[in-house]
Amino acid sequence: MNGLGAAPEILIETRNLNKYFGDRHVLKNIDFRVAKQEVVALIGPSGSGKSTLLRCLNGLETYQSGSIVILGHRLPPVATPQQLKVIRRDVGMVFQNFNLFPHMTVLQNIIEAPILVRKLPKRLATDMAEHLLAKVGLAEKRHVYPNQLSGGQKQRVAIARALAMQPQILLFDEPTSALDPELVGDVLAVMRQLAEEAMTMVVVTHEMQFAREVSCRVVFLAEGQIIEEGSPHELFRHPQQERTRLFLERVL
Ligand code: ADP
Ligand code: MG
Repeated sequence: MNGLGAAPEILIETRNLNKYFGDRHVLKNIDFRVAKQEVVALIGPSGSGKSTLLRCLNGLETYQSGSIVILGHRLPPVATPQQLKVIRRDVGMVFQNFNLFPHMTVLQNIIEAPILVRKLPKRLATDMAEHLLAKVGLAEKRHVYPNQLSGGQKQRVAIARALAMQPQILLFDEPTSALDPELVGDVLAVMRQLAEEAMTMVVVTHEMQFAREVSCRVVFLAEGQIIEEGSPHELFRHPQQERTRLFLERVL
C-alpha cells in the first residue's frame, strides 16, 4: 500500500474463466485474483478443478473462454510458445510428484533453467543453487541423483529449482500429497518460510492446518466453481455455504 491507499497490485486475475475437457465443463466462470505477496490456499474435493485452474495459470492447459492476466501479460486461451516462455520465466510451479530430471544431479537440476532460460553464467547459477540448497536444508546433497533422495528431499529440491528462476509467483499443486507423513513437515516449513519472505504463492493443498496458519486467503472450489472464499478464520470458523461446511466436516 502507498500513502494514497492504492489497491494492492494484482499479479493474477482470471475473469469468467471456462475450461472444458471434451464435453466436461471443469472450470465454470472462475473469477480468481491474487495480489502481490499474497498466499492463497486452494482447497476442495478431488476432481473439483484445482489442478486444472493452477495449470491454466501457467499455460499448461488451454481454456475456452474468459481471460487470464498474469503479471500484466494477457495469457490467451491458446498461448504461443513465446507467450508461454514469458509467463513461465516468472511463474514457478511445484508438482505433487516433484518432476525432477532423473538423469541429472540435484545441482544440475537446479542450474539447468537459470543457465538455459535466464542465460546466467554457470558459476553464478551454481553459487545461487548452493545458496538455495542450503536454504532448503540440503546443501550436502548437491551431487546426488534424485533417486537417492527421500520424497521430502526431492520436493525441497523441486522448490529450490523453482526458486532458482527467481519467480515472481510460485504455484504449488499438492506438494505434500505424495509424501510419507513424517516428511511433510520439512516441506511445509520451507513453504512457510517463503510465505514469511512475502513470496506470492497459490497452494493447492489438503493440509488444512497449513492453509489455516499460513495462507492469507482460502478459496474453496467444488465441481469447477468457486463456492466460497475468505480469510482462513472466516472460511474455517464461519463457512457461509452448506457445501463448504460439509467439505470441512470431512477433512478437519
Ligand atoms: P482436482 O485437482 O481438484 O482433483 P482436476 O483439476 O485434476 O481436479 O480435475 C478436474 C476435472 O477434470 C476432473 O473431473 C478430471 O477428471 C478432469 N480432468 C483433469 N484432467 C483431465 C484431462 N487431461 N483430460 C480429461 N479430463 C481431465
Ligand atoms: Mg489435483
